[in-house]
Amino acid sequence: MNRQSLSSHTPADQGTPEGQPVRPVRIGISRCLLGEQVRYDGGHKREAFLVEVLGRLVEWVPICPEVEAGFGTPREPMRLMGDPQDPRLTTIRTGIDHTVRMTRFANRRVRELADLDLAGYVFKKDSPSCGVQGVRVYNQEGTLNGRSKGLFAQSFQQHFPLIPVEEEDRLRNFSLRESFIDRVLGYHRWRALTRGRATRGALAAFHAQHKYLVLAHSPAHYQELEPLVASAKDVNPRQSALRYGQLFMEALKVKATVRKHVKVLKHLAGLLKGHLSRIEWEELQEAISEYHRGVTSLAVPRTLISHYARVKEITYLKNQAYLNPPPEELTLRNHA
Ligand code: SF4
Repeated sequence: MNRQSLSSHTPADQGTPEGQPVRPVRIGISRCLLGEQVRYDGGHKREAFLVEVLGRLVEWVPICPEVEAGFGTPREPMRLMGDPQDPRLTTIRTGIDHTVRMTRFANRRVRELADLDLAGYVFKKDSPSCGVQGVRVYNQEGTLNGRSKGLFAQSFQQHFPLIPVEEEDRLRNFSLRESFIDRVLGYHRWRALTRGRATRGALAAFHAQHKYLVLAHSPAHYQELEPLVASAKDVNPRQSALRYGQLFMEALKVKATVRKHVKVLKHLAGLLKGHLSRIEWEELQEAISEYHRGVTSLAVPRTLISHYARVKEITYLKNQAYLNPPPEELTLRNHA
């Protein structure tokens, strides 16, 4: 386990039912991305950001489907063939069809993964086993027939449709990386909620703590979540929590824009107004305005609000997921 983990960057009483230990944030990963020599040619595809930065904060669950399915290293390279809607996994030179073997392995392995409570998965792009999107599918003549998913990645997503997944090259993009980490943490907290009793009260508390995070991404989803929480007393609260999870994860997928952040920051500042001196209030307004004009980063007004929430002991604000973002080292551009 890591000394400092992402799970420690969530509000203290957020998402972890009473009496349950805070769990580490576990993320599945294509094993070759960690620098392990499991590729068909005995090489690896080490990704520095994942190993050196994210790896210090999460617990990786490394998987190489081709090695675990028994193909060995080195091995003959494989590719997807045939119908892009239902591709076959075959060796390139000898044309051996390994679809059944890989599919059986994948179905068994994803069932085992359910016990590990993953909060995300980073897949290797373009791989016929691990690629999440756009993996080339060839016809018998060896020309491009279309694009699909790697077989293991496909099985994983079918079993865990809400778990955030990304490919390593997309995580080099600053905003996609930030979005992935937000979704991983959101999913991690929502899973903690559903592991507990998921009473209406617990769901309402979760909703309150995530209000501004959801609003920064998708006010439209927030409008849908409100009545769901309100009506939870009338139906099975666990069913409501499950439906809530679907909408919540959809909401976090929507891009958080500067305009939406500014609106949220102004709302939060408004909640602080009666607690601040005139100078503190003006300083906060200036920080929000500078962020709006692109002069400063989001971290500046957000940290200021978070600071005042703590100092002024405003519990509702202190517990906002929006004011407890992932550590900055994860989102700095110089790790791209
Ligand atoms: S892409 Fe997937 S199957 Fe290929 S070496 Fe990496 S982990 Fe193994």
